[in-house]
Amino acid sequence: LFVTLEGPDGAGKTSVMEILAARLKETGKPFIQTREPGGIRISEMIREIILDQANTEMDARTEALLYAAARRQHLVQKIVPALQEGKIVLCDRFIDSSIAYQGAGRGIGTEEVREINRFAIGSTMPDLTILLDLSAEEGLARIARNKGREVNRLDSESLEFHRIVRAEYETIAETEPERVIRIDASGTLEETAEKAWASLKSRLP
Ligand code: C5P
Ligand code: MG
Repeated sequence: LFVTLEGPDGAGKTSVMEILAARLKETGKPFIQTREPGGIRISEMIREIILDQANTEMDARTEALLYAAARRQHLVQKIVPALQEGKIVLCDRFIDSSIAYQGAGRGIGTEEVREINRFAIGSTMPDLTILLDLSAEEGLARIARNKGREVNRLDSESLEFHRIVRAEYETIAETEPERVIRIDASGTLEETAEKAWASLKSRLP
């Protein structure tokens, strides 16, 4: 079972992931926890290039290609082998992030970004995607309050950028209601995690 967590910055993906992992552990089912961009050495190195604040000249298509490259390596080196061993894979972000951030947010075009990701991942799509939905305003406010968060190049994006990202996530959820479960992330972390766990539990093998 391949499960991804998606949503705008500040929605709580990383924190919810920790709680889901703890719950999964209690069930005794084998699973791994990973993240994008990153998860393995090569992809973590690509992540550093993408997020480095010094790389202000990065072109939007270059960025989209780097995400796709990091995704492919992570998929073939870590995700697919785990799935083949029968493990549940919990992944913080995957293809929908690229559709929303690069395709819509950066204005490259969602179909173009889908194209390069088809090349990168073939037919491997998540079985379940938990979308933590939050307004752009609240997401940015939470980021501003969270001082411990690592600063990155994307932190200076405008409210408008984040609004577009959120709207694209909603479009994805409406287009693929079987795969994408949308969860209101405006409440407390516990409330959000509880809802996320309910949807994950119902899909467990
Ligand atoms: O979720 P995480 O904190 O790992 O993401 C790091 C940064 O990369 C965030 O600011 C996020 O907005 C950005 N990002 C992006 N496009 C993606 C994935 C992440 O712009 N496809
Ligand atoms: Mg995070």
